[in-house]
Amino acid sequence: MTVVNLQNVTFAYGEQPAVADVSLTVEAGDFLGLIGPNGSGKTTLLHLMLGLRNPDSGTIELFGEPVDSFDDGERIGYVSQQATSRGGSMPVTVREAVTMGRFAHAGHGRLTDEDREIVADAIETVGIADLADRQVNQLSGGQRQRAYIARALASEADLLALDEPTVGVDAESRDAFYQLLESLNDDGITIILIEHDIGVVTDRANRIACINTELYHHGDTESFVESDALTEAYGATGQVVHHHH
Ligand code: ADP
Repeated sequence: MTVVNLQNVTFAYGEQPAVADVSLTVEAGDFLGLIGPNGSGKTTLLHLMLGLRNPDSGTIELFGEPVDSFDDGERIGYVSQQATSRGGSMPVTVREAVTMGRFAHAGHGRLTDEDREIVADAIETVGIADLADRQVNQLSGGQRQRAYIARALASEADLLALDEPTVGVDAESRDAFYQLLESLNDDGITIILIEHDIGVVTDRANRIACINTELYHHGDTESFVESDALTEAYGATGQVVHHHH
């Protein structure tokens, strides 16, 4: 099944296009790494994919439906760049936040014992069972990312989209976080990950989209590694990050 289908999508904030004539698909079960230099349109492209922005031209489908009529929001877990910051989030505990995800799936406000078990399992899966009764806005950035993912798991999301989720997270927690993503992907959840460390992406993702306003590569990771797409897309920006061990 095709989860995301973009055809000839173009978007500009003003005169200058941020995304130009991009066509790509994300298939169910993919782990897509979305890479490109700073300001190359990655976040904008992700917003377009999720229906958070309307394209100037081109078509976008989510789960086979035109994105502007798509209303199964609980199928998508989105961890934005802002998710690591503290401000603005409601004073709720992890368990309460994840329970809201379960309500979104159930579509009504009465939870069964099974629902409660699903909430507990989701919190356990992301490795923050010991923090279940803490306020979300008192967690560290990395713990908060996990809480967001637990919420998505409780709502039975089948697509997780993450925008540089490990900025400001230490190397060890970062590795553990990417292992979590990989195991969720093994369980069948489709993942779209914006990440500036190319090594992380080529290690974990089976598909790569490399953009710099235009798409330079879209395909499997092996053919990306063998291609010149990276040098072409990054040009002389000097931004390639590749500190993988
Ligand atoms: P990336 O995620 O690759 O860093 P973005 O999608 O955030 O890139 O940005 C792509 C381009 O669009 C950049 O030149 C950026 O300055 C510009 N841009 C992003 N958001 C806005 C906005 N809200 N208004 C105007 N320009 C924007």
